[in-house]
Amino acid sequence: MHFGTVAIIGAGLSSLSLALFLKQHNIQRTIYELRSPNVTTASALMLSLNALRSWDAVGLYGRIKMERWHFRAGSFRNSQHELIDSYEFGNVDKYGYDCLRVYRQVI
Ligand SMILES: Cc1cc2nc3c(=O)[nH]c(=O)nc-3n(C[C@H](O)[C@H](O)[C@H](O)COP(=O)(O)OP(=O)(O)OC[C@H]3O[C@@H](n4cnc5c(N)ncnc54)[C@H](O)[C@@H]3O)c2cc1C
Repeated sequence: MHFGTVAIIGAGLSSLSLALFLKQHNIQRTIYELRSPNVTTASALMLSLNALRSWDAVGLYGRIKMERWHFRAGSFRNSQHELIDSYEFGNVDKYGYDCLRVYRQVI
């Protein structure tokens, strides 16, 4: 099948992942982003299993994992600091990946 240039609207996480995937298949792509490239945010993203599997498939995980904090679970505590519950975000031993916390600009 022949593709011309694929127009990708927005340079968010899914668009950039798609752009990488298209690049790997030698498909021309152009990204159109509304915001200026020097817009910064202070926030970091917590990336868990499905996101990391997708990024592994496009060869991004190996690069991004050097720029991260990794963790496995979040916990909920009451005002006395007693553990109420915990939630597993990732676990490299069980699922192949810990959860990663990465700044958006790094991504
Ligand atoms: C405060 C906050 C915290 C979050 N924390 C997490 C987290 O820790 N972990 C996690 O997995 N997810 C988190 N999310 C969700 C995550 O940010 C989104 O799921 C993800 O960014 C969606 O990616 P996307 O590529 O679909 O869209 P977006 O990342 O929203 O990207 C869309 C892009 O398209 C651009 N755009 C829009 N309209 C146009 C147009 N007409 N022309 C050109 N460009 C356009 C926008 O400027 C933007 O850059 C958080 C979201 C918020 C708001």
